[in-house]
Order: sequence, then C-alpha cells, then structure tokens
Amino acid sequence: MTKIGIIGYGNLGRGVESAVKYAPDMELVAVFTRRDPATVKIQTAGVPVVNVNDAASWKDKIDVMILCGGSATDLPKQTPEFAKLFNVVDSFDTHANIPQHFAAVDAAAKAAGKVSMISVGWDPGLFSLNRVYADSILPDGKTYTFWGKGVSQGHSDAVRRIAGVKNAKQYTIPVDAALEAVRSGSNPELSTRQKHTREVFVVAAEGADKAKIENEIKTMPNYFSDYDTTVHFIDEEEFAKNHSGMAHGGFVIRSGKTGWDKEFTNVIEYSLKLGSNPAFTTSVLVAYARALARMYKEGARGCKTVLDVPPAYLSEKSDEELRKDL
Ligand code: NDP
Repeated sequence: MTKIGIIGYGNLGRGVESAVKYAPDMELVAVFTRRDPATVKIQTAGVPVVNVNDAASWKDKIDVMILCGGSATDLPKQTPEFAKLFNVVDSFDTHANIPQHFAAVDAAAKAAGKVSMISVGWDPGLFSLNRVYADSILPDGKTYTFWGKGVSQGHSDAVRRIAGVKNAKQYTIPVDAALEAVRSGSNPELSTRQKHTREVFVVAAEGADKAKIENEIKTMPNYFSDYDTTVHFIDEEEFAKNHSGMAHGGFVIRSGKTGWDKEFTNVIEYSLKLGSNPAFTTSVLVAYARALARMYKEGARGCKTVLDVPPAYLSEKSDEELRKDL
C-alpha cells in the first residue's frame, strides 16, 4: 500500500480524498491544514486532520504527500518547504513561473534525498504531455491548445473583485469555427479573439450600476479586453441552480506534414470533457503519486514533471498485464 498524505483541504484536497478511496493500492494516512483542525471535517472515517505545523512528525509514515494549495501564493512556499520532508506532488499551474518553481523544489528535494513532481494535472500535466508527443511525432506542424467550455476560477475571481458584484462565474468557450479550421489541417493563424470567447454570469448587489459593471468587465486588461465577452445579470437563485458546477475541458490539436515531399497532412487531437475540474485534476495527481513512489524506490531524486514518468508507472497493473493490452 502506498501511504498518502494531503496538505490543504480545499477543492483539490477533497478530490484527492475521493480518488484515493477508489485506488486499491493506496491508503490515506492524514490530512494537514493551516486552519484549526477541529474546524476541518473530512469524509474518510478514522483518518486524522492535523495542523500543518506538525507535519514533520509524520515524516516516516507517508510515502507521498499531495500538495493541494493554490498556485498563486501557497505552492511557491509550501512545495519547496515540504519537499525537504516528503516525496511531494503538486499541481502548480502558473505556466510562466514553472522554471523557477522547478529550481526551488529541485534544490530542496536533492538536499533532502527525496523526489518531487510539480505541475501535475491537465494543463499543465496531460496537455503538456500531449503537446510533447505531438510536436515530436510531427515536427513540421503547428500545435493549438483550446480551453473550455469551462469555468475559469481566475477570471471568476477577477469579476468578483469589481465594486457592486456579489457573485460571478466566468466560462471560457472555444470558438467552433477556429476548432474546425485547425482540424482541417490548414494551420491557420488565429488571434486570441478568434480562438475563445468569454461568458460571464453576474449577481449584482442591490442598486449597483449594471452598465458600469459590464463595461468594467469587458475592458479589463489581460483578462477580458482581448476577447469578445458576453455578460448576463442573474439572481442568486439562478446562480445557485445553474452555475455552481466546475465543469471544464479542452483540446490539444497538432497538424503536421509527413512524406518525402511533405505530401501527407496528419492531425493529432487530444480532448478532455471534465464533469468536475478538481475531481479530475486530483485523479491525475493520484496516478502520478503512484508513479512517484515507484520512482523513489528505484532511486530517483530531485524534481520531476509528467514528462519524466514512464506511462506504465501510472498504472496499478503489472507490466505483464499492461503488455497483454498493448
Ligand atoms: P481552493 O481555494 O479550494 O483551496 C486552496 C487552499 O485554500 C486549500 O489547500 C486550503 O488550505 C485553503 N482553503 C480551502 N477551503 C478553505 C476555507 N473554507 N477556508 C479557508 N481556507 C480554505 O483551491 P483549489 O483546490 O480549487 O485549487 C488549488 C490549485 O490547483 C489552484 O490554485 C490551481 O492553480 C491548481 N489547479 C491546477 C490544475 C492543473 O491542471 N495543473 C487544474 C486545476 C487546479 P488549508 O486547508 O491549509 O487552509
């Protein structure tokens, strides 16, 4: 049995707990939180909730610690810190900062004789893996990534910070015409605006100026100004009924030429349709935690990413069993 610990009990923390419940070769040992443990209620009977400051005393009782904090401020601090004590996996998704996060975690894990894996999930994660497969197989081509339809937490948060907004949810939606153009193999040049649209559902505070809110959303730099955005004002009841979910998904598509005279067009497409972003992301984290435990036993040390993991290591099946279905 691989002994799993969870640090941080939010959406991902709950998702890891569910995924471990259905992993026959894994066992949840403890959940660690920065809050008062008495206030954090978990689902699994008999598993303790512990203050994160006491994690060091669990050093020899956990094979892999899965870090479930947020990418913005939690993981840059927590992953290097806990990489000194445990083999850790995180889902760090601030793409631009992955190199510096990797360097910090690598140094911590190497000094401690542990192995870590960062940026595990679907993007970064499974999408990164598929981009590398497709780029390597079709070097003469172009790769496109589309996200959605799905909820973007970052964009929803940005709208919630506007004065007069009580609640908000933002959906990122790929443009069908762009998807079809990419699938045709014509390698089109697509602007940001041509690839995705954004749809926002807002619950406004009583007496708020809706026209002003709508304008602030649509002109917000980085988040909305480069997109065609539709804003809907709805009441709390409709918000709770229709917009409480966390569905997501997306596509990685590469088309490229092969043949002596590059006469053949090929299209590789990988797509995800996720009922729940956190419940899926954590299923990925748990499969990679299994791989990490095996890599540690074999002597791997320092920081890794999904690109360093042999696919067979993700499975609880033996190599012989896997070869039967090759
Ligand atoms: P949450 O905001 O739900 O949780 C983050 C942390 O906040 C928790 O670890 C928890 O820490 C704390 N927290 C949670 N609930 C409460 C509460 N009620 N009161 C006070 N504190 C609370 O974030 P998510 O789990 O949704 O996402 C975590 C990260 O996962 C995201 O930042 C995102 O970057 C990443 N992610 C990556 C993906 C990928 O494909 N790579 C895909 C999806 C997400 P504590 O228990 O210590 O208080």
